[in-house]
Amino acid sequence: MNVVTNKDAIKTITTHYIDGAFVESHGREVMDIIRPTDSQVIACVTLADEEDTRRAIAAAKRAFATYGRSTKEERSRILRRLHEAVAAHIDDLTDTMVEEYGGPAVFSRSMMEAAANAFLSADKALQGLLLTRSWGKTTVTLEPVGVAGLITPWNANSFFLCAKLASAVAAGCTAVIKPSELSSLQTRAWLECLDEAELPKGLYNVIIGRGDVVGTEIVRNPDVAKISFTGSVTVGKSIMRDCAATMKRVTLELGGKSPNILLDDADLDKAIPTTLAIAFMNSGQACVAGTRLLAPKSRLDAVKRAIKEAIRAFPVSDPADPKTAVGPMVTHKQFERVQSYIRNGIEEGAEVLVGGEGHPEGLEAGYFVKPTVFVNVKNDMTIAREEIFGPVLCVITYENDEDAIRIANDTNFGLHAYVNGADVRRARHVASQLLAGRVAINGMLDDQQAPFGGFKNSGVGREFGTYGIEAFLEPRAILEA
Ligand code: NAD
Repeated sequence: MNVVTNKDAIKTITTHYIDGAFVESHGREVMDIIRPTDSQVIACVTLADEEDTRRAIAAAKRAFATYGRSTKEERSRILRRLHEAVAAHIDDLTDTMVEEYGGPAVFSRSMMEAAANAFLSADKALQGLLLTRSWGKTTVTLEPVGVAGLITPWNANSFFLCAKLASAVAAGCTAVIKPSELSSLQTRAWLECLDEAELPKGLYNVIIGRGDVVGTEIVRNPDVAKISFTGSVTVGKSIMRDCAATMKRVTLELGGKSPNILLDDADLDKAIPTTLAIAFMNSGQACVAGTRLLAPKSRLDAVKRAIKEAIRAFPVSDPADPKTAVGPMVTHKQFERVQSYIRNGIEEGAEVLVGGEGHPEGLEAGYFVKPTVFVNVKNDMTIAREEIFGPVLCVITYENDEDAIRIANDTNFGLHAYVNGADVRRARHVASQLLAGRVAINGMLDDQQAPFGGFKNSGVGREFGTYGIEAFLEPRAILEA
């Protein structure tokens, strides 16, 4: 196809996917893709401009004229074909995520499996969703909202693309998709899978380009009815403002600073390894990372010892090595961002228990950082309030359950929370008071039928399951005389 490897082994991508075909970019700007493990340029991508974006929107609009009237059975067939297409290429998708993004191999594979399963989950949810309800002489139908703009970040590219596309397709929407330009190789690999599914032309259109060019055009274009965005709070707020002009529906999945409450009856041998896994998942570049560990003051010494012991199972190294738990940061900018937060934590008086500034020894060529745990953290310190998006865990002590709940909720975010404790009834009682879209008790848990999304600055609306599909539907009531 249009990905070629030249004699220096640098791939070039010059096309977007519009109206069922790979088409040459109208935009001319070329961007390098840099491998985070060694800072080498591994690919060049030609970025889309507003014209490419308008072509993609027009194709989605044409396709919506037919697909918007599709039946549940037709949508279900398409979802199953999408599942098969992605499931057949888990290995390739994983390898590309490891190379371009630096995702640890085991984690990357699990994300690709979840990506493929997102289509089956949406199909299951669709089967359970009543698209038509009637009583007396009133009939209510749930209608697809129209062309959906799906905008995603770089930290789990193919998963977000699959999850959003699955809900949109289940609802009967067509899509214009703008992945992060930092995920161009992963997007290309994903598109080549999807192309094999031979779906109706224009059902999904994918353009690789910058947020302030392609993203802005999608958000402002009157032919797009809905935006589903995953990314930063700053961009999410600007999208919400812009969407008001054309009254677009919006779903925003934004950042987090998730609390992880260790109740005083928790078994540290289990809870601390889980705590580190929750904090350092996806090398800490995860919106759901549990980055504030709330520990009972009375057990702080034991918690510190357990962390020092458990950290040995979280080696930072080459992400292709299946034993690696923490890979590099995605870019040099992200590396610098994490370093500046670590410096800030030290300056504000927090104590480094493990990790700290700088590269881990022997990994100076890439964007690797040291998984870092701070103790003596106060909840008003910058490192406890802002999303770092790197492997940095803050340990904050509390006096009693009430105090733990207060500190957990004292944040601008509300995406996820975690509770660990031996007495499950007590853990549930604590969980029920946390202001977060999801609360996991005693583990790192997922359920693709459960709603996903945040309170407060963590976003607007929910994804996954029937909640995710309903976000792409509008009810229409027909009342007869
Ligand atoms: P980002 O907000 O910079 O970019 C996200 C996407 O939006 C990219 O595709 C980008 O090109 C695009 N974009 C940028 N400016 C835009 C504009 N003006 N209009 C339209 N689109 C625009 O975020 P990022 O750095 O790619 O990702 C990291 C952030 O994503 C973190 O804050 C993280 O918490 C968040 N995130 C949230 C979730 C969740 O589900 N809640 C999941 C993963 C990541």
